[in-house]
Amino acid sequence: MQFIDLKAQYEVLKDEIDANIQSVLDSGQYMMGDHVKQLEKELAEYVGTKHCITCANGTDALQLALMVWNIKAGDAVFVPSFTFYSTAEVVSLLGATPIFVDTNPRTFNIDTVKLDQAIQKVKQEGKLTPKVIIPVDLFGQPADYESIRRIANKHKLYVLEDGAQGFGGTIDGKKACSFGDISTTSFFPAKPLGCYGDGGALFTDSDEYYELLTSLRVHGKGTFKYDNVRVGMNSRLDTLQAGILLPKLKAFKDHEMEKRNLFAKQYTMLLKEHVITPYVPEGMESSWAQYTILLRSEEERTFIQERLKKKQIPTMIYYPKPLHQQSVYQDYDFNLDELKECEHVAKVCLSLPMHPYLDTETVNYIANSLIECLKEYQNEK
Ligand SMILES: *Cc1c(COP(=O)(O)O)cnc(C)c1O
Repeated sequence: MQFIDLKAQYEVLKDEIDANIQSVLDSGQYMMGDHVKQLEKELAEYVGTKHCITCANGTDALQLALMVWNIKAGDAVFVPSFTFYSTAEVVSLLGATPIFVDTNPRTFNIDTVKLDQAIQKVKQEGKLTPKVIIPVDLFGQPADYESIRRIANKHKLYVLEDGAQGFGGTIDGKKACSFGDISTTSFFPAKPLGCYGDGGALFTDSDEYYELLTSLRVHGKGTFKYDNVRVGMNSRLDTLQAGILLPKLKAFKDHEMEKRNLFAKQYTMLLKEHVITPYVPEGMESSWAQYTILLRSEEERTFIQERLKKKQIPTMIYYPKPLHQQSVYQDYDFNLDELKECEHVAKVCLSLPMHPYLDTETVNYIANSLIECLKEYQNEK
């Protein structure tokens, strides 16, 4: 059994993917070919933003967005501590300071009450200038953008939605990757919409940001390619990857999101009496980048994970260490918050196999095996 079965997906989409790869090879347009333009058009349509700009990966996408706003040393950028490293890494890379905010353990997303408190504290201290909030749609669940937008307006901050895992989720029918002033996603193979290598994209309604981003992703080019007007990056999406993503986007829209939701519901129905299952607030839909449960203790989690492994059921721990506990930030003195919730969640979270090519029998088997292991653990204690 695979944790995320990319080969099963390829078998279903093989003819279309192979044909597109061949057409890129035949065209000779390996950089910025027609497939890239077509993909950007379809992505913007699906998400519901005016513009989509593809780039080399989801980390670059975040960095490019911060470069649009000229984020630099002395700026404070508010990020959840419970996320993948990229969200804070790009802030540090540009010389700015990430301010880590605790997690709401029910949704796994940034705690908006603590976010507001953190912004106020940074303002009071007066050492850094608050500039950006980067909410993450963790595990596919959109963050609380209603509260976040209110807080951002109050403090006059930009919102950069990190939708690397969120692509496909919705709030009141509005799609993830449309909630930021700029929003980003990743096409890393294991993400909800993945390619066969690295890839990423940015979304915005702003013509001004769009113009800047098209320049920044190609070395800060001017209207004439060999006149560079600013310092940029080399961050394009390969035409081959765009060719692979086009049929995958179609499958994502046609049936994959529906399947993800079906299997997530089934897991929740079977497991809700036994563990803490993911909570999706009213009016929201998750894209189920991960299906993550909470156990009672770290010891219980270790036991369950080992027993499931013996039954050939792969599980993952996303994430074992919140960012403020990472070695890279050990000398860091900007933890304004106690960050207790994310430290606890990191000890008891466990992600189960989740992808659209599961079937009801397999989900049954995984859930029932998990319940059995929980009973064994309780009996052994
Ligand atoms: C995967 C991921 C990224 C980075 O995307 P890459 O394409 O791997 O660079 C950023 N943020 C989050 C939350 C992610 O899960």
